[in-house]
Amino acid sequence: MILKIIPGGAFVENTYIIQSDKSKELILIDPGSQTDEIEESLAELEFDSVHIWNTHGHLDHAYGVDYFKKKYGAKFSIHEKEIPILQAMSTAASRFGIPEFNNAVIPEIEKFIEENREYSVGNLKFNTILVPGHSPGSICFHFTKELNPEEELVENFIICGDTVFAGSVGRVDLTGGTNMEELVGNITEKLLSLEDSTILFPGHGPRTTIQIEKESNPYLSGMF
Ligand SMILES: [Zn+2]
Ligand SMILES: [Zn+2]
Repeated sequence: MILKIIPGGAFVENTYIIQSDKSKELILIDPGSQTDEIEESLAELEFDSVHIWNTHGHLDHAYGVDYFKKKYGAKFSIHEKEIPILQAMSTAASRFGIPEFNNAVIPEIEKFIEENREYSVGNLKFNTILVPGHSPGSICFHFTKELNPEEELVENFIICGDTVFAGSVGRVDLTGGTNMEELVGNITEKLLSLEDSTILFPGHGPRTTIQIEKESNPYLSGMF
């Protein structure tokens, strides 16, 4: 399995590329405004189709969606509750006043992601976990297996968007955010209940694990 992390843009957002080495299809998660860097990473890979799946619709994670949809004829999947967040992209862009976010285009959606479902793209299988709080349709993608005859466990990691970070959690005061109790409650119930060794790849900053966050994340241990 190939996993590439491409941090970039004004908010140093992490875009992820995931591909099974047995397939020519690849998954592009949260393509932000660092489109040049993403293209450089894509140029190192062999693929014939791109599938864009977003954890949520904030500008820093979705600015590049329309660009890559048009460039590769990619299909775009996101949770239905993120529609108003995507629609607020231009307003958000003018509010932040950061030139790279000008001309934000609201992308068309091909498929709505459902929670608690197993999806497959190429040879990759993953489950979806809905963790509202930072935004209403924030989805975490839990990768565990490649589709091969042995169904072997190859990895155990979650692309968790802006729900939880190394040592922190997502903001709840941006478009679509609710409150800290809801976010922390959902993280605790739906993510911290998973295996301790599960790796978390957040939408910003470095990777972490469920165990590390359980033990040392101040937001998740009742300190805040
Ligand atoms: Zn966000
Ligand atoms: Zn973000």
